[in-house]
Amino acid sequence: MLMTEALIETIHLSKIYGSGETAVRALDDVNLTATPGEFVAIMGPSGCGKSTLLNMLGALDQPTAGEVWVAGENLAKLKNVDDFRARTVGFIFQLHNLLPTLTALENIETPMQGRVASARRRRDRAMHLLTLVGLAARARHLPNQLSGGQRQRIAIARALANNPKLVLADEPTGALDSQSGEEILQLLGELNRSEGTTIAVVTHDRRVAQATQRILRMQDGRIVEDHRVRNPLEEDLRALAFSKLGETILDTEDAPMQGVTPEEEAILRKLIARLRK
Ligand code: ADP
Repeated sequence: MLMTEALIETIHLSKIYGSGETAVRALDDVNLTATPGEFVAIMGPSGCGKSTLLNMLGALDQPTAGEVWVAGENLAKLKNVDDFRARTVGFIFQLHNLLPTLTALENIETPMQGRVASARRRRDRAMHLLTLVGLAARARHLPNQLSGGQRQRIAIARALANNPKLVLADEPTGALDSQSGEEILQLLGELNRSEGTTIAVVTHDRRVAQATQRILRMQDGRIVEDHRVRNPLEEDLRALAFSKLGETILDTEDAPMQGVTPEEEAILRKLIARLRK
């Protein structure tokens, strides 16, 4: 019945905390669809429901009304919630929550315990992820021997351990200086592109939002704006299409372009007309 291509779908999702006079409507009829591979930023003032929404998507909390579907599963009907989380979702929080007595490598291995039988495989996968986040040389370091940005990289590698379809990040750059924040953000963007991981990130950081493909703005438990960010290539092409050159190419009254076949000119004209829409 549901669209199979959606990775996330919430249907009339509402969440009310408390009851009576102290009741707080944290989510109010949220209908959100995201497809696999999307990189979505969730923004809005403090208390507008961002974390509540993220928690619902990760099956960390139950809705008051409505449905949440992730990767084809109705979260209210899960037989084993822990299994769903381990299988399908990777979490990254503002504070990394690494285990202080385990090395970087061991921290990344933790979510694979009981899921990947062979210790050798767990180690290999953890090492691969450590390399992916640029910290292969820090495998044996303990969290307190690493910088805040490095710890957050380890947390990202750990979130990817079981190759989740969805990564949920709650203010992942919130506790970092701006340089480290920038790097974490780039890393998330790369993972989104290279691994095709769908990422939903709650953030106050404009730069994070700009790096994503889509920005959801929330207010009082509702999504009040759903904005798609154009990629830089499309942005440049658009600038070209609206330039003098673009206009010249579009103008069929003009003399034929030199050094270009009529077929090529027709293609250019079609492309520019499309971009100018
Ligand atoms: P945001 O992440 O946008 O800051 P939250 O999702 O954390 O917002 O909170 C949304 C609203 O729900 C807030 O008014 C908050 O006070 C309330 N809230 C969140 N969690 C709880 C809870 N466990 N019990 C009661 N109220 C809560």
